[in-house]
Amino acid sequence: MKVLLISPYELGRQPHSLAHPAALLRARGHEVVLIDLTLGALPRSGLGDFQIIGIALGMHTATRIAVSLLPGLRRKAPGARIVCYGVYAPPNAALLQGLGVDTVLGPEFEGALLALAAGETATAGPAKVTFVTPDRAGLPPLTRYAHLTLPDGTRKTVGFVEASRGCKYLCRHCPLVPVYEGRFRAIAREVVISDAAQQIAAGATHLSFGDPDFLNGPTHALRLLAVLHDRWPHVTFDATIKISHILTYKDLLPRLREYGGLFITSAAESFDDAVLGSLDKGHTGEDIGRAVALVRASGMALAPTFVPFTPWTTLEDYCDLLVRVRDLGLINSVAGVQLTIRLLIPAGSYLLRIPGFRERLMPFADTILGYPWASPDPRVDTLQARAQAWVEQAGHEGRGRWETFAGLWRLAHEAAGRAVPALTRGDAGPACPQLSEPWYCCAEPTTAQLARCAAGA
Ligand code: SF4
Repeated sequence: MKVLLISPYELGRQPHSLAHPAALLRARGHEVVLIDLTLGALPRSGLGDFQIIGIALGMHTATRIAVSLLPGLRRKAPGARIVCYGVYAPPNAALLQGLGVDTVLGPEFEGALLALAAGETATAGPAKVTFVTPDRAGLPPLTRYAHLTLPDGTRKTVGFVEASRGCKYLCRHCPLVPVYEGRFRAIAREVVISDAAQQIAAGATHLSFGDPDFLNGPTHALRLLAVLHDRWPHVTFDATIKISHILTYKDLLPRLREYGGLFITSAAESFDDAVLGSLDKGHTGEDIGRAVALVRASGMALAPTFVPFTPWTTLEDYCDLLVRVRDLGLINSVAGVQLTIRLLIPAGSYLLRIPGFRERLMPFADTILGYPWASPDPRVDTLQARAQAWVEQAGHEGRGRWETFAGLWRLAHEAAGRAVPALTRGDAGPACPQLSEPWYCCAEPTTAQLARCAAGA
């Protein structure tokens, strides 16, 4: 069968969500074409030749892009079975089907996709398949994807690997939770190593682990790193680890560093304990400071991510968040976009289980694939819009993290009617390795992202 797999967006990474099903399908003799819309375009003709068109929806931004893509795709390939798969597909099933999608599959989609390619029904496939080495043939080279810049200016080519899927936690705002419901599974070590090997052979000198949380299975993670470091001691890595795991597994941090760990991304989300409690994050605001100290003491950097704008956020809260970022010396460690993110509430979100929360929201909106909300204080929404516009502008103008933060600092204090405290470059904190595409999975797409992908579509 002739299969086209499309990735609308995967954080500037060479899409594992295409390469893994491609390996499984090709092994069974299917002809598979891969298109990453962030770097390529759909073929101008011949879409009608594909029997199956799969679209990977692992992220909110990818889904927003797919929604705009689907009507045209349906028109150009009237006979194809269009399949959407990934974390964001099931919560948006009704919308996707209304746009012409024939089959909606979750993040454990491979078995059903193989069944469809074999001419069977989706339910004929196994619920889970055994992972194989992803087949990256046909994707753009790693050098065209996000790269890593070290504090001394060294630029590293980045490979992207996954050592596990799902997560064992139930943070209420997390899109994984309604789908995985606290489960995760490890990917066999040999598979991860062979995928790393092919990317290192293709030029990667740094591996970025895409696991939702790298220490959900600490023994698996450490054994894997030991092998990788033994074979490729020059290759560094980064991973996402939650704050509570950093505290619980603090004794492992020096080993992560020894194995080439450069920085840890961690979803700090907020310094406000009430907000953290509502999100069920399992850490406090003070814990974030402890985690920063532990990670730094190990020789790595901590790059926190935030959801600074929630229905509970006040102008004072936002100013306080910026003050805590400054006081912890994290200005250089936080991408500007992280300080503008507005809480997204997708269909099925566990946040809807908080008594009285649903009543604070507007009806579900297809346009944002979530429940819109407005702050009880309209000045907060105005500040969020200004902050977002400023960060986009600062990005276009090539401003660094300190300058971007300084603009937010001024906007926030002025909005709160406070005198703007002095901020110096000495407040920026230690330099942090930076990926050229900042990590954020469930934020609104930026105008630039939508425009870039629209061009590809
Ligand atoms: S936010 Fe992170 S730790 Fe929480 S459920 Fe999601 S992936 Fe797991």
